Amino acid sequence: MKAEILTIGDELLRGEIVDSNKSFLSERLLDLDIETRFHTSVADDPEDMRDAFRRAAQRSDAVLVSGGLGPTRDDLTTQVLAHSFGRELRLDETALASIRRFFERLGREMSPNNASQAYFPEGAEVLPNPIGTAPGFMLDVGEALFFCLPGVPSELRRMMDEQVLPRLAERRAAGVAVRATLLRTFGIGESNLDHQLRDVALEGDVTIGFRTAFPDNYVRVRVRAASAAEAESKLEQVCGEIHKRLGPIVYGEGPETLEHVVGRLLLDAGRTVAVAESCTGGLLAERITSVPGASQYFAGGVVAYGNAAKTALLNVPAELLAAEGAVSEPVARAMAEGVRERFATDFGLATTGISGPTGATEATPLGTVYIAFARQGGSTHVDRFVFALDRVRHRTIASQIALDWVRRAILGAELAAPTLLRSKG
Ligand code: ATP
Ligand code: MG
Repeated sequence: MKAEILTIGDELLRGEIVDSNKSFLSERLLDLDIETRFHTSVADDPEDMRDAFRRAAQRSDAVLVSGGLGPTRDDLTTQVLAHSFGRELRLDETALASIRRFFERLGREMSPNNASQAYFPEGAEVLPNPIGTAPGFMLDVGEALFFCLPGVPSELRRMMDEQVLPRLAERRAAGVAVRATLLRTFGIGESNLDHQLRDVALEGDVTIGFRTAFPDNYVRVRVRAASAAEAESKLEQVCGEIHKRLGPIVYGEGPETLEHVVGRLLLDAGRTVAVAESCTGGLLAERITSVPGASQYFAGGVVAYGNAAKTALLNVPAELLAAEGAVSEPVARAMAEGVRERFATDFGLATTGISGPTGATEATPLGTVYIAFARQGGSTHVDRFVFALDRVRHRTIASQIALDWVRRAILGAELAAPTLLRSKG
């Protein structure tokens, strides 16, 4: 099955928004082993849209269309698609009722424009949109199967998973089942990962792909088999093998981020954490609290940017700061221990460093960062890194290491330093 993604909207062609729908849809199609052959984008222009629809129908089997389903005059997808293939528009009473209900639920008045969203090309199957006004639809035009989805990414994603993929899975060649998963890793580079997995899954029905999403590296595993059960057990077996090779380098699977994984582990272990942040400026606290329910394990944090704050709020001795400098091993240690005591938590994390581009000295080069992890009744672990990165990525990787240490500590793994990007010394 050859797929094409067709995104519609003036703002895409003007470069005002990034076309994230394309990559999302293609990635999901790959889970079904369906290859995207074309990515096309057109403006909200009826002629261009018609040409794109007809061309897509000729060269592709499945066409996923994003955008232009809204109620305004620049939303033309339904109308133009119907016209391109000689279909009339028909009112769908069920869709109209559900659009009405959507507005009632929000307590908002429905404008007459919204009723236009209940018209579909004849022969279309309406695809419900549980979180927006515009339903989508599927239309078989003979040469190709069209799926029209709203442009709003959250709506499109949900409808892709709930409506489109099951329909495509049904139509795809029988006798082939595909299962895929994403393993999230932190700590080693892509080429090292590939090397460590060099003899895993060499058969043709298993593919392993690598992708970097700073500061992580993802390993994507895809398996084809004759049946769903076979594909699932094969996937499990390959993932098991990868886990065995990589150990705690793999921190999670699927959409779960490191902060989610850490949150779950803290919750299960009944442990609490507090953070003392200098160079990460609150990013650690932000990441931890982005997980719902974080109050159960996150006591709080202090952004102690200046020396006076480090002393007043974290009990870092002024003499220590004067003697060692704020970016130093003993200060990082004192910050982590100070915040842990202050908040009476099991764990205390601290970051202090020079994210740049200014502030470097001869003793502490640009990108230096000390990360400290204090444990109640245990020793404090501190490590020094030099990451020659821009400010944003420097903070990101520092917060990632700190979070990863919490994960490793709970799992009883070594508090390893990432080998990637690290300068010796
Ligand atoms: P609406 O009912 O909101 O008008 P729609 O189906 O008409 O939905 P659009 O008007 O094309 O969709 O897009 C709605 C919003 O979704 C845009 O303002 C844009 O922010 C976002 N969007 C549209 N297309 C894309 C895309 N390809 N990638 C990422 N975001 C997109
Ligand atoms: Mg719109």
